[in-house]
Parts: sequence; structure tokens; C-alpha cells
Amino acid sequence: MDLKLHGVRGSIPVPSKDVLKYGGHTTCMEISCETFQLIIDLGSGFKNVKIKKNIPTFIVFSHFHHDHTQGFPFNPAVYDKDNQFHISSALLNRRGILKVLKNCFSPPVFPLDILDDNINFNVLNFDTFKAAAIDFFKIETFPLCHPGGAAGYKVSVCNKSVVYALDHEFGLEKNIDDGLLQAASNCDVVIWDGMYTKNEIKSKQGWGHSSIEQGVIFYHKSKAKKLFISHHAPERDDKELDIMSDTILPKGVFFAKENKKIKLF
Ligand SMILES: [Zn+2]
Ligand SMILES: [Zn+2]
Repeated sequence: MDLKLHGVRGSIPVPSKDVLKYGGHTTCMEISCETFQLIIDLGSGFKNVKIKKNIPTFIVFSHFHHDHTQGFPFNPAVYDKDNQFHISSALLNRRGILKVLKNCFSPPVFPLDILDDNINFNVLNFDTFKAAAIDFFKIETFPLCHPGGAAGYKVSVCNKSVVYALDHEFGLEKNIDDGLLQAASNCDVVIWDGMYTKNEIKSKQGWGHSSIEQGVIFYHKSKAKKLFISHHAPERDDKELDIMSDTILPKGVFFAKENKKIKLF
């Protein structure tokens, strides 16, 4: 089972030579093995996901801000009716998801109505999705602290577990932080929202993101094996990430890199 990060940027894609090392695409993560493919969030990085034929493709959204949805219509595989997509989110029910996708990807804001007979998609309430996935993987959800809400996920397959916690503001609501900590406790991989530094976050309270330094604290508290700091601020270039990587990240904590494959087993 592999985990691959296809997009690690927050807010907006960054096409610049200064971010070639860590990547400029917005959030998209893939977990796949021979029997299934699971994609969490469809930021612009989704464009580069290779959809595998003859195995089910599951898609979950943490929430529906642009940087987590904008890649959806730009992967040619979504127009191939031989591919079936099981789509869900713990944040909204089936009807709510259909409404928001329709609003995002139909005229006048998008040239096609992609939900109108163009995609072989199967939008499910989260409980139904969870039940449909159970033969392949176990997925649990917990709330995150973000404007409008966001759902975090814990995906487990054969004793390996990955916790995805974008977008989240750590330290604002204790109950929510406790739920996240419980989910991440001793897990294999945590994907952490480290959009800001500890100095930057002082003026960003209520914006729904955490800091790089809080990621380090969380890593020690959770005893996770590895923690990847993702959702990099658009203005954070490779040079700055390299310097911080050398100076403030302990062993086991990394800055997420686009196209990075992490072998789970
Ligand atoms: Zn985001
Ligand atoms: Zn967001």
C-alpha cells in the first residue's frame, strides 16, 4: 500500500520555479494498493492522479473550499464512463455534496455541468460510503476546527493507519484537538496542516490553520511514526522550507512534497 501526495499547497496553486522541490499544486492525497484507490481531496494535484481501471476508486472531501475541489474536472479519467467514482464527505450528506459540486462545476462558473451525465459518479452519505469501503479499508472521521467546518479522516488497512487533518486550527477548541489526538495516537502517518509559522499565526487566529511548530508538538504528543507538514502557504518557497527543515523539524517530521510516495507496507 502506497501513499502519494499529489498536492501539498494551501489556498491557491503556485506555478513558480521557486517551489519546484516541494510543489505548487493544491491538496490531493492518494492511498492505493492492488485492490482499491482512495483519494482524499481534489485540489489541483488531482489532475496528475492516475485512475486505475478495474478497481474501485473512492473519493472523500475534507470540506469544499476551492483548494480542495478545483482539480476535479481537470483529470481526464473522470470523463471515462468505465471508471466509477464513489464520492463522499463526512461534512455534508449526499444531497449537500451534490449541491456544492453542482454550484462549483456548472455554468456560469464552469463551462460544463460535470454532474450532468458526464461522470459515472456515485455520491454517497458517509455511512453508506464507509460500509461500501469496508471490504477494502476502514475509514473513520473526526471534526476539525475550520471556518465552515472540515472533516478529518483516519484510514486503516492491515494494521497501518494514516490520519489526514487538513484544514485544522490547533489550540482553538480542546474537544476537537482531543479527538484528533486520539485518532492520531501511535498511528503510522499524520498529514498535518502547517500553513503558518508560529510568528505568522499570531495575526491569523480564526483562519482555520495551524503552525509548523504546533505540528512538531503534536508529533511528540501523538507518538505517530511520521508526520508530514502540508498545506504550505502559497508564498513559502523551497528555500524557506529547506531552512526550516534543517533547523526546526525533528527526526520523523517532514515537509510534505508533491509526488512523494510513502510506502506503508
Ligand atoms: Zn485548504
Ligand atoms: Zn479550507
